[in-house]
Amino acid sequence: MKIRDLEKLMDQYGDSTLGDIIASKKGNRIHECPKCKGEGENRVCVVPGEYGYRDPIYSTKDCDVCNGVGYTERLLKPKIKTEIIGYE
Ligand SMILES: [Zn+2]
Repeated sequence: MKIRDLEKLMDQYGDSTLGDIIASKKGNRIHECPKCKGEGENRVCVVPGEYGYRDPIYSTKDCDVCNGVGYTERLLKPKIKTEIIGYE
């Protein structure tokens, strides 16, 4: 990071600690999103690959659980969906 970048950040946030800036950005969203793990976006396959011919093509999309923030107000847990795939 260049000095000019740091000066721009200081103009934007003042002489605050990184912890203060993170806390103000998070607000009430104190729980890490379980879907995107705090990244705010998820990798999605846009073109499926074909074995031996083409690798799949991925893109990123804003997380639909946390709306791209990466953190949530409530502690969320993944719902596990089970379905019968056959009988033996
Ligand atoms: Zn998320």
